[in-house]
Amino acid sequence: MENYSDPIRNEGRCKHYHGENDIVLIKFKCCNKYFPCYKCHDENREHLTQKWKKEEFHKKAILCGACHRELTIDEYLYKKECKYCHSNFNPNCSRHYNIYFDMPSYDTYQVKK
Ligand SMILES: [Zn+2]
Ligand SMILES: [Zn+2]
Ligand SMILES: [Zn+2]
Repeated sequence: MENYSDPIRNEGRCKHYHGENDIVLIKFKCCNKYFPCYKCHDENREHLTQKWKKEEFHKKAILCGACHRELTIDEYLYKKECKYCHSNFNPNCSRHYNIYFDMPSYDTYQVKK
């Protein structure tokens, strides 16, 4: 049994998402802290999640759990891998983008394509 209390040491994996590719931590705008997923955020805080706005996507709000370097939101969205260490990101994360970032939900996005 792994200990997920220290997500950074666990390369961004948490008790909710801990697959091989679940290596990303996302900084939440509302509290300026990194969490491995929105469930972890909601467990620890009692406020509503504030999403990053489009004009803020150039800010560094992504932490690669594999190399511990920060990426901007633009450098992360729809990318397959970390630009520094080339670790693969979980492609399923795109389903949850709209929880963290101000953008259409995954379903809407699919329909538009
Ligand atoms: Zn918060
Ligand atoms: Zn979690
Ligand atoms: Zn990396």
